[in-house]
Amino acid sequence: MNDSQSYHVEWLVIQDQLHSNVTVRIGDGRVIEIQPGHAANAIDLGSVAMVQGLVNAHTHLEFSQLRQPIPTTGRFTDWIRKVVQSRRENPSTVGGAIRAGIAESWQAGTTLIGEIATIGWRPQDYTEVISTEVPFQGVVFQEVLGLSPERVSQQQQLARSHVTDSHASLSRGISPHAPYSTHWDLVTAAVAMAQQIGSPLAMHLAETTAELELLALGTGEFRELLTEWGLWHADLFGESRQPIDYLKLLAQAPRSLIIHGNYLDEESLQFLASQPQMTLVYCPRTHAAFGHTEHPWQRLVELGGQVAIGTDSRASNPDLSLFAELQFLAARHPRVSHLQLLKMGSTAGRQALNGRQSPDHLQAQTEHALVTERASVGETSIIPSDFTIIRPATSPMRDPHQELFAPGSQVCGTILQGNWIKPMLANANGPEIDR
Ligand SMILES: [Zn+2]
Repeated sequence: MNDSQSYHVEWLVIQDQLHSNVTVRIGDGRVIEIQPGHAANAIDLGSVAMVQGLVNAHTHLEFSQLRQPIPTTGRFTDWIRKVVQSRRENPSTVGGAIRAGIAESWQAGTTLIGEIATIGWRPQDYTEVISTEVPFQGVVFQEVLGLSPERVSQQQQLARSHVTDSHASLSRGISPHAPYSTHWDLVTAAVAMAQQIGSPLAMHLAETTAELELLALGTGEFRELLTEWGLWHADLFGESRQPIDYLKLLAQAPRSLIIHGNYLDEESLQFLASQPQMTLVYCPRTHAAFGHTEHPWQRLVELGGQVAIGTDSRASNPDLSLFAELQFLAARHPRVSHLQLLKMGSTAGRQALNGRQSPDHLQAQTEHALVTERASVGETSIIPSDFTIIRPATSPMRDPHQELFAPGSQVCGTILQGNWIKPMLANANGPEIDR
């Protein structure tokens, strides 16, 4: 998008700041200007909230074609057995599932994705979803896992070729899968590689009590599963490790996303809070589906740590809507401001995946853009023009703190780098949004 375009909205949220009745001008993939009131030539989007794009910090798009989640009612390892079986039964549909998952995410208002990729995917599955004009935005984390020495070295190769592959338009990361599936040495190697090339890293951790039992004692349902698969070895989990040991190792990566963390204890939360390069990714509906105990995200927020939100995959969740996750959280936590939820569903995920822009730089720019009535931040703007447009359940919306994710509110538009993805535009004059 070369020409700039202005939109007038009732509510705007940029950099976690709420503005009412403003015109925002975007162009060249960036926010150029924000000014009060309805500027001449601005397209009026009506009674909506335009918020900086939602970020799904954790998913596995390869399962996007599942019509319904794999039942989560039994033991966790029973669910894993069924996931492995499902993958075996649908071996050749990875590319189609990835495209379907990205399209579904865009429809749901998600603009940036933290994606875990296993095998059978190609870069074009991400870069040519609708056309090459419409960019996939996100990080593709190559998953590595394995417990035997041969497997560990083979998976190191896989990670290395992934991160050094030169498909310029894909942001890459590494994901050692989980403590029960990934040898400590492989996790260590993945961290070293992430350091070397400056990429982010994602790892499932402290997801179940069974995982804690395996790490501490080498017993329980995971031992049964590994024995059944011929992978059990007496030396594997003899170190009596805890999640905090993994956190300290993962803290050495340039940025790390700790997936789930359902059973992190106070010491681990305090450690996480002290590491600004680490983000806990909470997947609310998946967490609920497995019937875990209360998730510690509020404690981490209290301690000043970073919490982002993910959907996880359609193997444990009915859809890939980050917006639906935020609605779910809003209903469960009526005393939490919806702007706080938005921060977790947008800013926190963006920083975890893309890195933190220098706060001073950003602050100066934002103030410059907002305080000066007709200020232009011009070419130096680093605020991307990725937006989610939310139509409130009742119009006009009086208090976004309470209504942004209220039941009945919905996503009516998605803008990626200034382009309307939802609804797709027939011409460049603006979206058809019914009022
Ligand atoms: Zn996951």
